[in-house]
Amino acid sequence: MKDTDYDYLIAGGGSAGCVLANRLSADGKHRVCLLEAGPRDWNPLIRLPTGLIPLVRGWWCNWKYWSEPQPHMGGRRMYQPRGKVLGGSSSINAQVYIRGNAADFDRWAAQGCAGWSYEEVLPYFRRMENYEPASEPRDARFHGKGGPLNIAPRGALNPLSQAFLDAAGQAGLPATADFNGAQQEGYGILHRYHRKGERCSNAAAYLRPAEGRPNLTVITGAHVTRVLLEGRRAVGVRYRKGRAERELRAAREVIVSGGAFNSPQLLLLSGIGPRAELEKHGIPLLHELPGVGQNLQDHLDLYVVTKAKTREGFSFHPTSWWRALAGLVQYALFRRGYLTSNLAETGAFLRSAPEEPLPDLQWHFAPVVNAYHGLDLRGVFRHYGYSITINENRPLSRGRVGLHSADPLAAPLIDPNYGAEGREIERLVRGIKLARKVLAQPAFDPHRAVELVPGPQVRSDEELRHWVRHHAETIYHPVGTCKMGVDPLAVVDPQLRVHGLQGLRVIDASVMPSLIGGNTNAAVSMIGEKGAAMILRDAAGNAEAGEALAA
Ligand SMILES: Cc1cc2nc3c(=O)[nH]c(=O)nc-3n(C[C@H](O)[C@H](O)[C@H](O)COP(=O)(O)OP(=O)(O)OC[C@H]3O[C@@H](n4cnc5c(N)ncnc54)[C@H](O)[C@@H]3O)c2cc1C
Repeated sequence: MKDTDYDYLIAGGGSAGCVLANRLSADGKHRVCLLEAGPRDWNPLIRLPTGLIPLVRGWWCNWKYWSEPQPHMGGRRMYQPRGKVLGGSSSINAQVYIRGNAADFDRWAAQGCAGWSYEEVLPYFRRMENYEPASEPRDARFHGKGGPLNIAPRGALNPLSQAFLDAAGQAGLPATADFNGAQQEGYGILHRYHRKGERCSNAAAYLRPAEGRPNLTVITGAHVTRVLLEGRRAVGVRYRKGRAERELRAAREVIVSGGAFNSPQLLLLSGIGPRAELEKHGIPLLHELPGVGQNLQDHLDLYVVTKAKTREGFSFHPTSWWRALAGLVQYALFRRGYLTSNLAETGAFLRSAPEEPLPDLQWHFAPVVNAYHGLDLRGVFRHYGYSITINENRPLSRGRVGLHSADPLAAPLIDPNYGAEGREIERLVRGIKLARKVLAQPAFDPHRAVELVPGPQVRSDEELRHWVRHHAETIYHPVGTCKMGVDPLAVVDPQLRVHGLQGLRVIDASVMPSLIGGNTNAAVSMIGEKGAAMILRDAAGNAEAGEALAA
């Protein structure tokens, strides 16, 4: 095929790509093609909420990237899982529904992203939701009904998750009823992307209802290797499917939605990016944009793990196998039971010091010991236990994505530059001390055996700092590598159009100018919703049409 067979080509069928495929094809007027490098999301582990451990580990559907050695983190290469499947990372993620702090979006607006303050993005957050939990009256204005992404209430809590809530109260921390409502700060129950006991990925939410439309084509196993430019205009893409190399042309726009690692890689492979990086790999420079791949930001995360003397939590210990079998039968027959938990049932947003203007720490509490991205399951086989994971919300460290080679199938170079700024390390140290205070409360007395990680021997600030630098990992929220804005490092403008080119947008996590305080899937979905509205508005040639969709 080599004609303008489609109006819109979307490179990447992940969280944002699925939103775009649905919204752009909804009115039947536009021919839309979604190209996804991975397979269809048929794997039953995707639907099973507890299936996330093998998915993160990467037996299937995962790019399984590794970072460059990180000089400030003990020289370690750090694992970087990303979904390679319809739904992208929303098909392998931990299903925690968090939007971020309202102040994060106001900061985007202040950074030159006109139209992206919290008040302005709130209609898109509401539009994407079918919010099932009962909202408090004061929080009702924050939530939507009838949208594609199903946000399920939490059923029965694991007794350890309940102990966490009780202990946080005993430690004097503030509580919140809704992290996505009027008050993010505090401890409380984490809502999740679930529908009827199954994961509700962006593919399940957005793509499934749209796939029957005659004007939407979805091609899986299609690795986009290049955006095709004619002069200053993007006119199509080249992709590889099996051994075949093909081209498709777009009458209106090409939209790059490959995520924070693959979107900048695709632009670089297409000759769009910093001159030096392209010259290094012998790629002809077609459009110089110094910011492509720069500004990489991610949340550093660590675990405080306690071995339990009770057997309430999740474990692969032989004594849990009967329960697991019963849970599997219950899940298979009724989509109920403990296997419908996404493990992170409760959490908190906290200030590590009173003078912090916003909650600078996020905690997830999980009734299981740390499995190191599912790569080291020894602890889960040996112990019952529980963990508080702690991440710092607004890192100052900036890394980059580049190329290892001009081979489009090679992994991108990923250098997050974790821990380059001491601030995040200090906050994490304070976070460990606060977590230990909560874990020492009476609510945990029936469960507590001994601290496994970092371990009672790691006590002084100096020891904790050293431990953080040698053990913290990603909590999977890379953003910022094709950032939105109007400054010299901005890659896209506030309409998500690539600066200096026509017919090309980037719409995914890579456009966030700065990392939000919270998990990133909701904000990416909002970006997909707002981006689609902008595209439709431009197509209609009418300033109100697209935005009115969100009203
Ligand atoms: C293990 C894990 C746990 C997480 N847990 C949570 C959580 O609990 N809550 C939360 O809110 N967020 C979570 N996140 C983060 C969240 O899922 C991501 O921020 C979000 O999915 C990113 O969306 P995206 O559209 O930018 O990229 P992705 O969803 O990663 O989509 C990119 C898509 O593009 C495809 N692609 C890439 N390159 C090409 C190419 N060249 N050609 C064709 N296709 C291509 C990929 O295969 C992928 O399908 C987690 C992420 C991971 C990995």
